[in-house]
Amino acid sequence: DVRHGPILYLDEVSVSFDGFKAIDRLSLTIDDGELRCIIGPNGAGKTTMMDIITGKTRPDSGEVWFGTRHDLLRLDEPQIATLGIGRKFQKPTVFEALSVFENLELAGASDKRLWPSLFARLDAQARERIEETLELIQLTEQRDRAAGVLSHGQKQWLEIGMLLMQRPRLLLVDEPVAGMTEREMARTAELLRGLAGRHSVVVVEHDMGFVRSIANKVTVLHQGRVLAEGTMDQVSKDSRVAEVYLGA
Ligand code: ADP
Repeated sequence: DVRHGPILYLDEVSVSFDGFKAIDRLSLTIDDGELRCIIGPNGAGKTTMMDIITGKTRPDSGEVWFGTRHDLLRLDEPQIATLGIGRKFQKPTVFEALSVFENLELAGASDKRLWPSLFARLDAQARERIEETLELIQLTEQRDRAAGVLSHGQKQWLEIGMLLMQRPRLLLVDEPVAGMTEREMARTAELLRGLAGRHSVVVVEHDMGFVRSIANKVTVLHQGRVLAEGTMDQVSKDSRVAEVYLGA
């Protein structure tokens, strides 16, 4: 299904820490259903940008919109979370003592006031969503295993599955393949590509091979601004991008 319009819109956003401009008139548009990679050297402002989107950091100026209706600068962090913006940090945080299935079950219930009893019978619809998510994250066979015994890659996929159980419209993903094997990276690429269209996904990643394998469009940040934007081929031919990466 083809969607229209931006899901996320940043206009001339700036933020300083003790007089240092970490984000400097940053403008960025993410279309609904898009999978976008954000790259850039250390200190470019990638984490700060994610913090601004989720409401963790307040910009000094500029505008941040979620869709056309939600002015994110009028909302606090918990309010923004309820709009359907999910963030996956680099380190996986799963409930190690619970099974894969139970982790997904709890995640799916966390938007309600009460967590369900794990012993309560799930309705058929909830069960079906968990089954679909298990397929998507390729952990169907591990469903009854404790999350604590999963490999690093499997824990990362489970956490993505937990975020998906909350039906996010926009997923922000921090360095998903750090510490993964080549094979795990390939499966992660497949997983993230499979989310595009149904969800909008913004991935911050250092591994250029991985970025090339998933993204149609890449944004290069440098000194808190957009240095270049386009396909990986386009941005990698840009001499300014080469300069900031090679320090030339
Ligand atoms: P990246 O994620 O691209 O490596 P960051 O967003 O973490 O970049 O940081 C951008 C710049 O802002 C860096 O120079 C960093 O030192 C600085 N910075 C980030 N957060 C803070 C903070 N809370 N206080 C002071 N400086 C910060």
